[in-house]
Amino acid sequence: MPGYAYNLPATRCNVGSKLVNIPDTVCFDCYAMKNRYRFPNVKEALERRYHAAKNNPGWIYGMVYLIQATKHKEFRWHDAGDLIDLQHLLRIFEVCKLTPDVKHWLPTRESQILSNIDPRMVPDNLIIRLSATMQNGPAPKSWPWTSTVVKAGASCPAAKQDNECKDCRACWDKKVKNVSYGKH
Ligand code: SF4
Repeated sequence: MPGYAYNLPATRCNVGSKLVNIPDTVCFDCYAMKNRYRFPNVKEALERRYHAAKNNPGWIYGMVYLIQATKHKEFRWHDAGDLIDLQHLLRIFEVCKLTPDVKHWLPTRESQILSNIDPRMVPDNLIIRLSATMQNGPAPKSWPWTSTVVKAGASCPAAKQDNECKDCRACWDKKVKNVSYGKH
């Protein structure tokens, strides 16, 4: 990943916490509910982040400060966890507007939250990709930018280049309508 990422507790995902128990969904057997994510100190830290993202009035400026401190030009939202509600999404919009030199990528499974907004409301430096529900399933039709998980023929080249993005930035590129990832 070329820049830094941010995460929230996967146990709090509105949609993902249900899909995690359904075989062949993209959330089944979620990595973010296993291993080090189960350590008490990690769980406590993720819960603190969740409550700050949801309720803390200083969260927007805290995130702006941290993102600027990375000095990277790309940022990924939610390598674990997902959007909490519409207010959370609108707060992320504010963070993006206050970091205009950074390109933000936000993958989500929360189509219900996205249904409340027009894609034209999304800041220019943010791409939201709505994820497919099923592995090898079709991309969602309700949002202009999507991602899918496939068993073969992924467009994401990471698996062929040491699991690194290297110079690929397809996930952040609004000209790329869908990115398909190989199933791990
Ligand atoms: S498609 Fe490109 S930018 Fe996205 S995860 Fe794969 S290598 Fe990284």
